[in-house]
Amino acid sequence: MADTPALQGRIIAAHGRHYTVELPDGHIRKCFPRGKKAGAAVGDYVIVSPQGRDEGSIDRILERRNLLYRSDDMRTKQFAANVDQLLIVVAPEPSFSDDLLGRALVAAQSADIAPIVILNKIDLPAGLPQARERLAKLARTGVQVIELSALAPQAMRDTLLPLLEGRCSLLLGQSGMGKSTLLNALVPEARAHTQEHSLALGTGKHTTTSTRLYHLPGGSGDVIDSPGFQAFGLYHLTASDIEHGFPEFREGIQHCRFYNCTHRHEPGCGVLAALERGEIAIERHELYKRILAENEAQGRY
Ligand code: GDP
Repeated sequence: MADTPALQGRIIAAHGRHYTVELPDGHIRKCFPRGKKAGAAVGDYVIVSPQGRDEGSIDRILERRNLLYRSDDMRTKQFAANVDQLLIVVAPEPSFSDDLLGRALVAAQSADIAPIVILNKIDLPAGLPQARERLAKLARTGVQVIELSALAPQAMRDTLLPLLEGRCSLLLGQSGMGKSTLLNALVPEARAHTQEHSLALGTGKHTTTSTRLYHLPGGSGDVIDSPGFQAFGLYHLTASDIEHGFPEFREGIQHCRFYNCTHRHEPGCGVLAALERGEIAIERHELYKRILAENEAQGRY
């Protein structure tokens, strides 16, 4: 029998040992990495050798434009590859963590992925002014912040769809922020997947447990859904990556006296001067110092 030619596809779901790969004609194949090669992520473009009708092996991962991941202690967790933007969902209640949000933004910015913060549940008046105030600090750093309510689906789509059009967006959020509600309103197919998954687990709970790429119906955008998270370690970042993760430091850095300034205590530091003038939020500088100290404690530098 003649060899079936290798095909290029994209990983749309990761299930631990195997992956779901979508081919350009829409055909889905269950694929296993060849040999011991690990590390493929949802969003990766891969070369697949078809096997049988619906299976295949992943021969090669094509070069990535970017990869978003986090690393907590010894574990590294890849979110997705080749994404155009990161959408982080927060809400007035339950309260979101500034620390986690800040870290997700640093991860995105250091990977050159544009972040957008979605303030969901704006129909809940309690806690809304405080949430807005906290996000205003981020908006001042140049991060786009949009407001909507997943419970008002038409208005939500009007706000969100123009931003999703033609792009691959990774959706992240702490649990309870309304990420699934949003996704289900955007992509009806997602609800079916979540329910299937929950049934398989026998929990009856609609929890998202795996990362998956969905196509927006009728549009030309993709949304990658990722499980909620409670930690966001950034041990993989170098000191320079971390600095890059704080766009509001950029201007000040130009004025640092020392080329290897860490912006913590050095004399003639442009970032500390900007902090003093109130141009950089204290909380952001604190977060910067926290991430840097964690990585130093890991013996990274
Ligand atoms: P996830 O854990 O981020 O996926 O959150 P869910 O989508 O499961 O939503 C958590 C809870 O928030 C559910 O009870 C939703 O009905 C509710 N919720 C989601 N979006 C909104 C919203 O815009 N407004 C209000 N009031 N509740 C919402």
